[in-house]
Amino acid sequence: MNKDSSQAGQAFHQKLGEIIGTKNVLTGEKATAPYTVDGLTPQAVTYPATTEQVANIVRAANESRITLVPWGGGSRQESGPCLNAADTVLCLKNMNQVVELDAGNFTVQVQAGIVNDELQKQLAKEKFFFPLDPFYTERSTIGGEIAVNANGPRRTMYGLVRDLVLGVTAVTPTGDIVHTGGKTMKNVAGIDLCRMYIGSWGTLGVITEAVLRLFPLPETSTGLYITFSDPEEAFRLVGQLLNSPLTPSAIELADSAAGQKVAEATGSKLNDGEVLLIVNAEGPKDDVGRHRKDIASLAEANRAKTTITLEDEEASRAWKVYRGVHEAMLGDNSSTLQGKASVPISKLGDMYKETKKISASHGVKTGVTAQCGSGILYTYLTGTPEKLVNITGVLKKAAADLSGFFLIESAPLSFRKEVVILPPRSDYRLMRRLKTEFDPKNILNPGRLVGGLR
Ligand SMILES: Cc1cc2nc3c(=O)[nH]c(=O)nc-3n(C[C@H](O)[C@H](O)[C@H](O)COP(=O)(O)OP(=O)(O)OC[C@H]3O[C@@H](n4cnc5c(N)ncnc54)[C@H](O)[C@@H]3O)c2cc1C
Repeated sequence: MNKDSSQAGQAFHQKLGEIIGTKNVLTGEKATAPYTVDGLTPQAVTYPATTEQVANIVRAANESRITLVPWGGGSRQESGPCLNAADTVLCLKNMNQVVELDAGNFTVQVQAGIVNDELQKQLAKEKFFFPLDPFYTERSTIGGEIAVNANGPRRTMYGLVRDLVLGVTAVTPTGDIVHTGGKTMKNVAGIDLCRMYIGSWGTLGVITEAVLRLFPLPETSTGLYITFSDPEEAFRLVGQLLNSPLTPSAIELADSAAGQKVAEATGSKLNDGEVLLIVNAEGPKDDVGRHRKDIASLAEANRAKTTITLEDEEASRAWKVYRGVHEAMLGDNSSTLQGKASVPISKLGDMYKETKKISASHGVKTGVTAQCGSGILYTYLTGTPEKLVNITGVLKKAAADLSGFFLIESAPLSFRKEVVILPPRSDYRLMRRLKTEFDPKNILNPGRLVGGLR
């Protein structure tokens, strides 16, 4: 850093102290190193507590051209196209309050820094839950989940972030506060700015509050853990389930590399080439009972090898093991990459087959999980950098041939720096213009998202 920018930085840190108090502004290697992202260590980390404080910080940063990185739980900062600057981290961990639980209208208004699991605990006391369940809910915040449009298995029954988030309060990159959407189900007149913030990766604004849709806690839940020797039979069962009057809350699949520990947790086992299908159902006891019976019969008709049914606490324990798969597969192995293929639901079996064929021909170790109700296939690929570059190119083509796309969600930094990780699309020019219009000085998450659009 040159002398001028160092002086500008110090003046900015002083300003931050005036806005939120010096104890909420940390500088120095020890405090800032844990917030290193994409190889960039910020010079300061700030902990605002209100939307107004965020707005004042962003306004000051915009005036001084200081780049800002919004930070939720930090569970997935190193994803997507790389940042190219990160002067100050705006950590929302102190913005962790439930602002208003409106039981009559099935909504809750929260500050964006509340951790998903913590919110669920508070809601459960009132017999509600919020059905957004991405991988890392013990750490990820509601703001972070909205920012990256993170969905989980329960989307099969309850829908996506865009169906579950009714309103967002955000601070624009120039420091204005905007309220979009609201408590009502129909709450947009004109362009839906609330949805614009969903999946904008913190490049168009800092989300500070959100209004979320709630559901009553289900009376009971069940999980069927079904193994198949032939994956095709598992995908056939998925098609039949989706075309039946049954309404499972989640239908997940794991191959033997990804699903072994889950199978073991249920007292079962997966041999090479076999797959595990998990079908969850929740709701009133009678409905769940019918699901349990009908799904088991369908599984048998599709030559399932084993079917194990777990209920309530047992079901939650096995489900927790499944939810740990993503982290276990990525582990500490710096040469593992996580890709995500999204294809029409009916083509998921074909994408699975193609992925296996391609991995074998490229000599790349691969684990697979799938959200079958949404046509999403996660691949965990381990290999040398050259092999990973080659295989991801082929997987992109395979997904495109099936009318879908393949993107790289998580990868070693060196890989993310060199390889185009997002799929080609025709609307990137418009996205770039939106970014320039909202953030003319490019201070919010510079490089992220728009920086990777080719
Ligand atoms: C592109 C992407 C897609 C993902 N999709 C899925 C998925 O489909 N299913 C799944 O289970 N998991 C998914 N994940 C992983 C996951 O759910 C994240 O771990 C989680 O949502 C991040 O929450 P966090 O609070 O830890 O945010 P962080 O890891 O702290 O931040 C993640 C990103 O969001 C920005 N951000 C964080 N908070 C805010 C805020 N309040 N306002 C504006 N920007 C903010 C950050 O700047 C950063 O770019 C995805 C992750 C990424 C990056």
